[in-house]
Amino acid sequence: MLGKMMDQPLLISALIKHAARFHSDTEIVSRETDGTLNRTSWQAIEEQSRRLMAGLRKLGLEQGDRIGTIAWNNHRHLKAWFAISGGGMVCHTLNPRLAPDQLIFIVNDAGNKALFFDKTFAPLIAGTRAHLKTVEHFIFMGPRDPEIEAAVPGAVFFDDLVQEAPQDWPALDENTPCSLCYTSGTTGNPKGVLYYHRSTMLHTFAIAVPDALNLSSTDTILPVVPMFHANAWGIPYAAAMTGAKLVMPGPGLDGDSLLHLIESEKVTLALGVPTIWQMLIAAAKKAGSRMDSLKRNVIGGSAAAPSMIATFRDDFDCETLHAWGMTETSPLGSANQIKGKHLGLEPDAMAKLRLGQGRPPFGIDLRIVDETGAPLPHDGQAEGALQCRGYWVVDTYYGKTENTLTADGWFDTGDVATIDADGFMVIRDRTKDIIKSGGEWISSVDLEGIAVSHPGVAMAAAIGAVHPKWDERPIIIAVKAEGANPSQSEILALFEGKVAKWQIPDAVVFTDAIPLNGTGKMLKNKLREQFGNYLIDQGA
Ligand code: ADP
Repeated sequence: MLGKMMDQPLLISALIKHAARFHSDTEIVSRETDGTLNRTSWQAIEEQSRRLMAGLRKLGLEQGDRIGTIAWNNHRHLKAWFAISGGGMVCHTLNPRLAPDQLIFIVNDAGNKALFFDKTFAPLIAGTRAHLKTVEHFIFMGPRDPEIEAAVPGAVFFDDLVQEAPQDWPALDENTPCSLCYTSGTTGNPKGVLYYHRSTMLHTFAIAVPDALNLSSTDTILPVVPMFHANAWGIPYAAAMTGAKLVMPGPGLDGDSLLHLIESEKVTLALGVPTIWQMLIAAAKKAGSRMDSLKRNVIGGSAAAPSMIATFRDDFDCETLHAWGMTETSPLGSANQIKGKHLGLEPDAMAKLRLGQGRPPFGIDLRIVDETGAPLPHDGQAEGALQCRGYWVVDTYYGKTENTLTADGWFDTGDVATIDADGFMVIRDRTKDIIKSGGEWISSVDLEGIAVSHPGVAMAAAIGAVHPKWDERPIIIAVKAEGANPSQSEILALFEGKVAKWQIPDAVVFTDAIPLNGTGKMLKNKLREQFGNYLIDQGA
């Protein structure tokens, strides 16, 4: 048949080219590691990325080389992303909060040839570099600095590399790897997920649409979620695609710093994990701020407590979009946007609908299965293992030869969920965190949501404690809010009428802090080690 459409590969460089051409003066604001603010534009980011790409090539780095970054969200990190991936190399974001041993394992496993690092992480580099066997170049993300020259001898300086003349973006096959991200390894050694230009581009198109994250050039977006946490959920790419203004928080992830940025830059949309919002809400309430510009926030990474969604809605007039995903799913797997049929819903019914993790965008398919792998109905009642497949879902982990899928080609997420007839999915728990009491399952997510609705509770985890009769019984591990002193009975009273009687926790144990992993999730395996025998010790 005669006639043909253009054949253009889906490449990450196209995103930054578009942003520079059609949103050239849109601002990118970053908090630098020294606390000052940097202002640049999409046009400058693109030009400097092409200079940096030339600088990397001059160092001898080539297509396919894995290049690590240990950095905050800032303009240099953004340039490194586009220079590395756009240049056909693989951008490997590293989580600096990992234990040094894990970091060493990941850098060696990935075979990183170069490593970008922020000033904050110079001591980490100095302490681990002897073990980083494959790294030939340590690139400091800043200007020439004698302190760094002393701490990391031989370091190369980012601001020198961008003095090179800019080179053109190379033509690549769209199935070229562009970036690499390891799971946080709460269940064993971290595993690498290798993203491709094509998968990333399709993910970028999908997350920007109104029924997903609803991004536009009128937005000022604050990705609090770090670029090392599943690629900041794809926001830097989608911001370039839509031409949105980006506000990068650098190391200032405490409530006061975020509040200040939201107010001074008039942020309209912010994204992050629940622990971040808790700090922000506390800071805003203390300062008497209503965060007027902030119209929407995206909560993902862990379940958003119903009381947190209500606080954003009622106290800050901010609409929370609850989203679910994994490193293995690039990461967006679902987002809670209503359908046309829900438009006239009563406030209570609407609020209830918005609590869950929402429905998959085009490009992701979800199902739930029983223990035998048989699909369960999408009736909002049946709970099963959540599986997914799609254009941006992992097939084979980095460095492995066998794929990680079920016999019929689905990826098992390790989550337990329900899905209703409209496709709305609710995460009930992670398979390994669900509490099994006398053969019945209790959702730790539900119990935590109720516990933190007490204003005197800053953070709460529900775990299964060993019980001689029921195998496990739920207990709550709680951290008190600053200046508050709630009692166990007050907290337990909250559960009456909200869950079945047998699901009400047996105890509330107060602790000073709940251990978090590198992406701000509660480490329940640590809590189980610490408090798993609590009921036995109490004479159960
Ligand atoms: P890790 O598996 O190492 O924690 P990820 O950041 O990829 O790294 O985590 C993915 C997991 O996070 C999901 O499988 C799910 O258990 C949890 N998760 C992500 N978003 C949500 C959410 N909105 N509600 C509940 N759990 C979530």
